[in-house]
Amino acid sequence: MPVAFEPFTEDHQAFRRMVRQFCERELAPHARAWDEAGAFPRELFPRFGELGLFGIRHPVAWGGSGLDYWSVVAYVEELARSRSAGLAMAMLVQGEMATPVIADLGTDEQKREFLLPALRGEKVAALAVSEPDAGSDVAAIRTTARRDGGDLVVNGAKTWITNGTRADVLTLAVRTGEEGHGGLSLMTFPTDVKGFTVSKKLDKIGNHASDTALLFFEDCRVPRRFLLGEENQGFVHLMQNFQGERLAAALTAIAAMDLMLEDTVGYGRDRRAFGRPIVSMQVWRHKLAEHRSAQEAARWLTYRAADLFNRGEPAQKEISMAKLFACDLAQRVAYDCMQLHGGMGYVIENDVARAWRDVRVLTIAGGTSEIMKEIVAKLEGL
Ligand SMILES: Cc1cc2nc3c(=O)[nH]c(=O)nc-3n(C[C@H](O)[C@H](O)[C@H](O)COP(=O)(O)OP(=O)(O)OC[C@H]3O[C@@H](n4cnc5c(N)ncnc54)[C@H](O)[C@@H]3O)c2cc1C
Repeated sequence: MPVAFEPFTEDHQAFRRMVRQFCERELAPHARAWDEAGAFPRELFPRFGELGLFGIRHPVAWGGSGLDYWSVVAYVEELARSRSAGLAMAMLVQGEMATPVIADLGTDEQKREFLLPALRGEKVAALAVSEPDAGSDVAAIRTTARRDGGDLVVNGAKTWITNGTRADVLTLAVRTGEEGHGGLSLMTFPTDVKGFTVSKKLDKIGNHASDTALLFFEDCRVPRRFLLGEENQGFVHLMQNFQGERLAAALTAIAAMDLMLEDTVGYGRDRRAFGRPIVSMQVWRHKLAEHRSAQEAARWLTYRAADLFNRGEPAQKEISMAKLFACDLAQRVAYDCMQLHGGMGYVIENDVARAWRDVRVLTIAGGTSEIMKEIVAKLEGL
């Protein structure tokens, strides 16, 4: 007998309401200013920490709340209500991308030194995997961590690193062994080490409130105990960590579509042409109905992946499908939402214009749509 699938309990809904209220009251009013300034205040990290938003699914012993993944789903969906995709990306990197691997693999010492302060928002965390010559091809990473007595000496460069200009700690992918995926390791890396430099903050098309940086490492000496998990098993750990990152991207796309469609319907009701509201024209009613239907399909595909992830079951195919489908769809939805706004859609002060720029990154960061297709094709035995 099939049972109704309702993942959100009353507790999840209460948590969702709290996040929405926080986003709408404390964040959204500043979203445009932060976008223009190219940054949001650092004090928001401890504020998120105080509200428990970085530690939702992290262990209670290390400052987390030990909740299930559906609480994270509610959080990511409501975070879009900040109307600052840049801030949302930065905060998701902190709680859902850079730190889970420390919780999973770190020693007590690493958790005390890096995880605890990151979940409190006292330290800013970043995930540093991509390099100037290795993005999609993670196995081609060239940044090395060479053993020298009880230390590791790190040399190389990382790029596109979110939170990179102000990170106190990096979850860093390095080469400790042979060429290819078998020689990679993960490590925690404090950025106050000699030889570490932020080369530049990259100027992006969208997500302006988040900083994205090019980083250099020159003979950076750190203790070997900063290795995360088993040496030369970094590729496997990274692929696991990517699952949370990609789910968050799919959920971000779905939430962005929600907001864009909501705004667009509102605008189309008010805006009149040829004697009637634009939204009443059949071409737009059909377009919006089509997008709402596709968005609902994206949501439930993603919820299916989230359910598997939440239960600790293999979900790589479903997560890759969800990221591919939701993030590609968000591009088409953004295009039409902007189009319905006419000239207003092209003016930056309008939220839909910012959203159109901001969603563009979703098919690129965290694994491109082409890489998602590669994974799905492989897991389909193609
Ligand atoms: C705003 C932003 C924030 C980011 N934040 C982070 C971060 O915090 N940490 C981090 O480590 N990285 C981050 N990234 C990097 C991101 O993950 C990479 O940009 C992404 O993985 C793609 O790598 P690449 O840019 O090197 O593109 P490339 O790998 O050079 O790919 C270029 C094109 O070739 C295609 N391609 C590559 N291989 C194949 C293939 N086998 N088949 C078909 N097509 C292929 C790609 O799909 C893409 O279209 C961020 C990127 C951006 C833009």
